[in-house]
Amino acid sequence: MATIADKLQLVRGRIARAVSEFGRPPGSVTLLAVSKTFPAVTVREAVAAGQHQFGENYVQEALDKIAELADLRDQITWHLIGPLQSNKTRVVAEAFDWVHTVDRLKIAQRLSEQRPAHLPPLQVCIQVNTSGEDSKSGVAPEEALALARAVAALPRLQLRGVMGLPAPSPDPAEQRRQLQAVRVVFDLLQSEGLPLDTLSMGMSADLEVAVEQGSTLVRVGTALFGQR
Ligand SMILES: *Cc1c(COP(=O)(O)O)cnc(C)c1O
Repeated sequence: MATIADKLQLVRGRIARAVSEFGRPPGSVTLLAVSKTFPAVTVREAVAAGQHQFGENYVQEALDKIAELADLRDQITWHLIGPLQSNKTRVVAEAFDWVHTVDRLKIAQRLSEQRPAHLPPLQVCIQVNTSGEDSKSGVAPEEALALARAVAALPRLQLRGVMGLPAPSPDPAEQRRQLQAVRVVFDLLQSEGLPLDTLSMGMSADLEVAVEQGSTLVRVGTALFGQR
């Protein structure tokens, strides 16, 4: 049976091949290991295999894991990649290093106010909704610039980029179109002078297309840890 170390090597290989195939600079794509639903011991195994960036979706589950892994705190960068309700912003501002899912100014303001003074600014991405579904989280592309400017002005947040979570599609062309739409928003914000370095998109099934479309951080769960 493949160990987590084996699977990390496979996924890093996929990323490296895509980076090379699409002419991206070596080392320009970071692997975020999505450990949601997997126990702390699994994260521990991945850290031992050299993985240090982890993504979690569910706030309470993540807080429990972060507490269990307190001895590894300085070896792990914790990213919240799931939806964030305003009643959870304080615990998130206290426990996480990154939040990828900022899609409303109110949430960003609370995170900035609640980020403890002894910690560095919380690193954040604006989540953009490119599927056009009203029910999905994420700011509409045409509202992303205004939100990004407001978030960038908050003192205890550092705006790093844009996050995209395309609706799953059996049609590769549709998948590519949505990833490209996230990229267009990222380019627009950069061209407006926002100093962004992170385009968070791509998962187990579509990381190659995401790298083709300019992703700098792919969020991979299933390909590393198995089916949830
Ligand atoms: C679960 C999840 C992932 C990882 O998806 P896989 O298909 O398991 O790689 C990435 N991003 C977000 C936002 C997720 O919720």
